[in-house]
Amino acid sequence: MATTSCDVAIVGAGLGGCFLALLLARRGRRVVVIEQGPAIPAAGADFLKPPGLRVLARHGLASLVERHGLKRDLIRYYHDGDPIQDCRFPGGYVIRPYRDLVETIYARCAMEGARFWFDAEIDTIEMDGGHVEELTLRDGRRLRPAVVVGADGVKSAVRRALGIGQLSIPYERLMMRVATVPLSASVAQLNRLYFSSEGRLAYFYPIDRERARVFVGLPPEEDKEVFQDGVPRLLDTLKEFVTDSSDSFNDLLPATWIPIKVSSLRVAAYHQDNAALLGSAAFACHPMTGMGMSYTLRDAEILADVVCAADGDHALLDHLLHARYEPRGLAHRELIDYGDALVAGFRDRDAYLRAFREDLHVFGEAEHVRQPELQLT
Ligand SMILES: Cc1cc2nc3c(=O)[nH]c(=O)nc-3n(C[C@H](O)[C@H](O)[C@H](O)COP(=O)(O)OP(=O)(O)OC[C@H]3O[C@@H](n4cnc5c(N)ncnc54)[C@H](O)[C@@H]3O)c2cc1C
Repeated sequence: MATTSCDVAIVGAGLGGCFLALLLARRGRRVVVIEQGPAIPAAGADFLKPPGLRVLARHGLASLVERHGLKRDLIRYYHDGDPIQDCRFPGGYVIRPYRDLVETIYARCAMEGARFWFDAEIDTIEMDGGHVEELTLRDGRRLRPAVVVGADGVKSAVRRALGIGQLSIPYERLMMRVATVPLSASVAQLNRLYFSSEGRLAYFYPIDRERARVFVGLPPEEDKEVFQDGVPRLLDTLKEFVTDSSDSFNDLLPATWIPIKVSSLRVAAYHQDNAALLGSAAFACHPMTGMGMSYTLRDAEILADVVCAADGDHALLDHLLHARYEPRGLAHRELIDYGDALVAGFRDRDAYLRAFREDLHVFGEAEHVRQPELQLT
């Protein structure tokens, strides 16, 4: 089978892979995205916060994304049934199910000429020292790229091939489950996030004009009991700390509760020679920060600038990745630590409020770790 050459091979068609493909294709780079699944993935993320919206706005995509999403500007937090704080988002955040969001960007990619290979399983990643030479798929297709980006999620095959070390720590104190239910009046009115002294969590928010998402987090022993005994037990548990969302309770009975495994991920490096890691292949934080997508969009923006500025010069690419992309680790580590601090404070009202950082929660990374814009020649 013939070998395809391209400027950039991106492994993974999630938000990071699709957005990077769009930015590179717009600047005339020949891009091939390799996705193991049959379509754009459906992950658990629903919230795009102000920093991510700002990135999209810089590329003319914010209104396209907002048009079909719900715009909100407030989350109300409760502890043991009492409201403890309102978090406001000036300019608002967008709620849009992950696959819808990524498909919007994917549709633009196709218009700009990026190629997508779906159902494309990687067989081997051929290396020459630290340099990625060629990717071979199980169906025999071969891809020879100048640059490779692993945007292939937490279990990244690209990261493994590069031999980059990682530390993944599961959040084991809270078993998370999610269900999609009909929208009730209270959920239509406000996003409400409940914690309790027993270490429980429940989050109610709309995903469109008819449906709501409910996240429930319980200590592992309680999760086992509640979901083994059936949903009526779940309602008894929720009634103890969920006060202003009880009009959703009847819809929780017939709902399907999908367990979600959540871990943090830290990696030893973000690039090696002609390859780089993006999105969940590079970092993962607790979803309660609601910032993973925003940081990934910013990372893709920097990566696109670096790849275009290097313009095929391998030494310059390595230098720019080191100087401009590796420092993203500072912002990622700050976010991961923040997520850890939030989770550690779930049981204790005061500890949670102390851990809560409005600057990170609403606006994202602080000015001192923000990257200067890269001047393109
Ligand atoms: C439960 C949960 C809720 C979240 N909620 C939010 C939120 O509300 N807001 C927010 O900003 N962030 C949230 N996040 C984080 C957000 O989901 C990530 O930051 C974002 O999805 C990262 O995008 P990605 O492109 O790196 O990864 P992914 O979406 O994971 O995409 C990786 C892609 O790579 C593909 N792939 C994997 N291996 C291979 C292979 N070997 N070959 C080819 N393809 C491969 C996969 O099939 C997948 O399509 C949440 C995360 C979780 C777990």
